[in-house]
Amino acid sequence: MKTAIVLGAGMVGVATALDLQDRGFKVTLVDRRPPGRETSFGNAGIIQSESVEPYAMPRGIRELFDIATGRSNDVVYALRELPGHLGPLLRYWWHSEKGRHRAISTSYASLIAQAAGTHDQLIRRAGADNLIQRSGYRTLYRSTAKFEEGLRKAEEIRAAFGTKFRALTADETLAEEPGLTSAGAGAIHWAEPWTVASPGDLVSAYAALFEREGGTFVEASVEELRQSVSGEEWLVRTSAGLLNARHVVIALGVWASGALKPLGLNFPMVLKRGYHAHYASPRPLGHTTMDTENGYVLAPMRAGTRITTGAHLTLPGKPPVYRQLERAERAAGELMALGDRVEDTPWSGTRPCMPDMLPVIGPAPRHRNLWLNFGHGHQGFTLGPASAKLLGALIEGVRPAVEPSPFRADR
Ligand SMILES: Cc1cc2nc3c(=O)[nH]c(=O)nc-3n(C[C@H](O)[C@H](O)[C@H](O)COP(=O)(O)OP(=O)(O)OC[C@H]3O[C@@H](n4cnc5c(N)ncnc54)[C@H](O)[C@@H]3O)c2cc1C
Repeated sequence: MKTAIVLGAGMVGVATALDLQDRGFKVTLVDRRPPGRETSFGNAGIIQSESVEPYAMPRGIRELFDIATGRSNDVVYALRELPGHLGPLLRYWWHSEKGRHRAISTSYASLIAQAAGTHDQLIRRAGADNLIQRSGYRTLYRSTAKFEEGLRKAEEIRAAFGTKFRALTADETLAEEPGLTSAGAGAIHWAEPWTVASPGDLVSAYAALFEREGGTFVEASVEELRQSVSGEEWLVRTSAGLLNARHVVIALGVWASGALKPLGLNFPMVLKRGYHAHYASPRPLGHTTMDTENGYVLAPMRAGTRITTGAHLTLPGKPPVYRQLERAERAAGELMALGDRVEDTPWSGTRPCMPDMLPVIGPAPRHRNLWLNFGHGHQGFTLGPASAKLLGALIEGVRPAVEPSPFRADR
């Protein structure tokens, strides 16, 4: 019997568990919380097939000055915490150089090209179509100069990757989006992305499909991971007892680095915390919209209009800083009648970003039958099922649809 344990039931882990089950494995999925309650719960819910380039670190003097002086709402940080994550941040900065970023984007685009199709299969099988809107999303620009810059960039992306978009003047944006009271200089409508009315519920629906089709979900904390003496099996000590299987997959998102350390495996990440809050808007938007110059997203969701913020570079356990959310709230109030906050306390969660912006998908460097699937940064919700298919093929020993070498741990 082919057996596997998947650790972590976010979008990446649940999709991995389903893929392995489809390949005839008997799979146990483990998480200390119900599926999809952490980072995969709190994101902007965009299945971003347009996002062919991973999110690079700004390198322009002006942008860096804005971040350093706290003028940018895209990225905030505390100077005193910087030494704690300077190493991975510097590597991220190095990989963000134009030529290196272009090469990375080619690999990234090959994986993201599989995102919509792989989600689609799961959405249909899980009966989750009621959560999905397949009509794109928008990036809105406040100033003509930024709008023109955005359009130039969009044209480059279209030329390189065939990505579909259309430009909307401010009047056209307002006509198509009656919930907006102002549309700045205009917007780009990206045609291909899909948006999800409740990201956590989509993960739950995929997890329910996994269980319906024979998978086992164990709600327990993973405490220790070790190989059996024969080296043929993996043993996972959890708060609910000992589990064993031939293969183990680490899909623990931002917690993967900590889980791998005791095995001597070192995967430093750039930790980009984000926040969200919901608002009871009287006229919700029809499309998820990013207010580009103010670094936040407005997403119409079941729970209300969700504002999600950019990156707060901070260390685990540090208290929340709501500066970005408060600024976003003020900026959003200039675009629409936002309404009152739904919850008392905003949500926060951390994007697991690798310094070279590519997720780690493949075998662990030294341990047989230990598999890695984490580090999906800004697009793990999008990439979960596509990454699962790539890893599943590697575990089964068949040729994957995507070239695996750029994603290997020892790249
Ligand atoms: C504000 C914000 C907006 C975003 N917007 C988007 C977007 O629009 N589109 C997009 O594609 N991506 C987006 N992302 C990124 C995306 O949310 C993440 O990349 C993705 O959710 C990562 O999924 P994951 O399964 O790797 O991790 P997670 O969803 O965090 O899952 C990891 C799981 O591991 C479990 N775990 C950890 N430690 C243990 C342990 N010891 N024992 C048991 N279980 C454990 C956790 O409980 C958790 O369920 C956004 C992120 C943020 C923060």
